Amino acid sequence: MSQLDDLKNAIKSHLGELECVIGWEQGYDPLHATPLFIRTEADLDRLIIGPLAVHNLATYLPGFKGKKIGVVVKGCDSKSVIQLLNENLINRENVVVFGLCCDGVVSQRKIRAALPADPGFVESVEVGAQDLKISVAGQSATLKLSDVLADKCLVCATPDAIISDVLIGAAHTPAPAASLACQDEFEAKSDAEKLAFWQETMSRCIRCYACRNACPMCVCRDYCIATSRDPLWISQDNSPAENMMFQMVHVSHLAGRCTECGECERACPVDIPLMLLRRWMNKQVKDVFELQAGTALEQTPPLLTFKVEEERINERGW
Ligand code: SF4
Ligand code: SF4
Ligand code: SF4
Repeated sequence: MSQLDDLKNAIKSHLGELECVIGWEQGYDPLHATPLFIRTEADLDRLIIGPLAVHNLATYLPGFKGKKIGVVVKGCDSKSVIQLLNENLINRENVVVFGLCCDGVVSQRKIRAALPADPGFVESVEVGAQDLKISVAGQSATLKLSDVLADKCLVCATPDAIISDVLIGAAHTPAPAASLACQDEFEAKSDAEKLAFWQETMSRCIRCYACRNACPMCVCRDYCIATSRDPLWISQDNSPAENMMFQMVHVSHLAGRCTECGECERACPVDIPLMLLRRWMNKQVKDVFELQAGTALEQTPPLLTFKVEEERINERGW
């Protein structure tokens, strides 16, 4: 039986006890997936998994707090479930986790860049073990999956869900790359070069807040400082400085909480490489607090605790 059939059977056996199960279905064309809220057995016919099922569905869980719900997660998404549990934003007894052993997902940006022209509406996609065959306007192109994998998959140490009630698929032995070339290149820049880079990049930001809204750990909702008028922390002025200020607040708010799921960057409509900031912040947190968000249950995010002296920070030199 296929991994998809195993998943469907597992969901079917829990459906009666759950408000719904969140999975993926085909979106507006065969290349794009969209979240699927499964309430009946008939809905299961639309369920898909695989390299096109990119969304981190854990983002929906806090909105269902208090209801019994199921969610399908890849390894990276399962870290968001753990982090939400650690921050008491969801209750374990109310969530049934259908975990996948994952082979990676695509980056739609890399696919667009690899095709001769923006494909627009794609007619069909054949997903093979090693490649994707995409047909559009009577022409077809075959792309190697390894060339269009999301950056996070290249450095993924947790392809199999690390929390689950049901685990579907064969376990992997991950062999992640040590780092990403784009991150190394960014961090090698001088401070002046980094400033120039962000001034230029942030001039594209349209302050749509898709990065915030797609983030599973961004849960302030009506209290977000980006939208508060009283107090007025950040103006709506759409300048590179104010746009960067919003991102600096976002990344600081996510310090010790960001699971590097990549949803913020994926959701950005103007291709701002937000993960450069998130990865950098996560490195600092790992270095100082020896913590990676979402990798273990019952970890308290460092910025939700207070110690007069942290073991690995010696600010005053005493
Ligand atoms: S980061 Fe890991 S778990 Fe997430 S999609 Fe990529 S390979 Fe799968
Ligand atoms: S998603 Fe992109 S454009 Fe929208 S606010 Fe975030 S950085 Fe700016
Ligand atoms: S900041 Fe970005 S990478 Fe981090 S948890 Fe939120 S969406 Fe995921």
